[in-house]
Amino acid sequence: MPQLQEDANVRMREDVKRALSKPVEERSWVMVIDIEKCIGCHACTISCIAENVSPPGVTYRKVFDIETGEYPDVKRLFMPTNCMHCDNPPCAKAANAIVPGAIEKRPDGIVVLNYKKFRGKKVFEAATIACPYTAFYYDDGSFYTQNTPKLESYETRPSFEYGKKWIRKKGKDEPPIETGRKCHFCLHRLNAGMVPACVTTCTGRAMYFGDLNDPQSLVAELLKNKPSYRVNENLGTKPRVYYLHGTYTEKELKEGCAACHE
Ligand code: SF4
Ligand code: SF4
Repeated sequence: MPQLQEDANVRMREDVKRALSKPVEERSWVMVIDIEKCIGCHACTISCIAENVSPPGVTYRKVFDIETGEYPDVKRLFMPTNCMHCDNPPCAKAANAIVPGAIEKRPDGIVVLNYKKFRGKKVFEAATIACPYTAFYYDDGSFYTQNTPKLESYETRPSFEYGKKWIRKKGKDEPPIETGRKCHFCLHRLNAGMVPACVTTCTGRAMYFGDLNDPQSLVAELLKNKPSYRVNENLGTKPRVYYLHGTYTEKELKEGCAACHE
């Protein structure tokens, strides 16, 4: 098992490097999650918070603990979720109608926020209402250690989202404070040749990332050979996160999703 994990990580790093050697419009980033391998440990959630120095209430990635079926025929599954990087993102339409350029769909598929424009509650609420996947969080300027003798340095160190240096300062109304936030497929890490933090941290090796346009990539191989499912595909959003459902039926997965989207 440890050998297999290492092999997947090495291969995905190579896949990312190959993708970076092509023009951006020829890349097609996707995330693949093998539901059967997720053990619900939440290591991905913690690594995302650490990578992006997210404050209280901001969790780009969550793992839902779901029970489906009726006793005695029940099953339990863990469903990791983040922004789906939709190819037809309703959030962008809603936000850009209020502040043009607040949300951008990149040619490689990643849906990015412009932290200088995606500011304040009005544009955040419009995007949040439009997103069918509850992907947005609002940075209200709070800190985990705000009521202690001093703010800890792990909360005041910079983050590098979107390839820029961001420092959250107490009492300062500057991005990313008073700004909507969400998963960005770790674009800053990709640009440095690394796979997303949540993927490398996954203890069950349940997550994969790479370029779907590259037939040699691990993600392309998995999606070619295993049945997959995308959440709320019927809405026409064209999400870029695929779930390998293994022994779970599509009906069970739909029931699972419905439990969180009631
Ligand atoms: S999941 Fe939500 S936030 Fe992400 S691209 Fe789709 S609509 Fe936008
Ligand atoms: S891809 Fe990066 S930003 Fe998105 S959930 Fe994973 S760690 Fe967080």
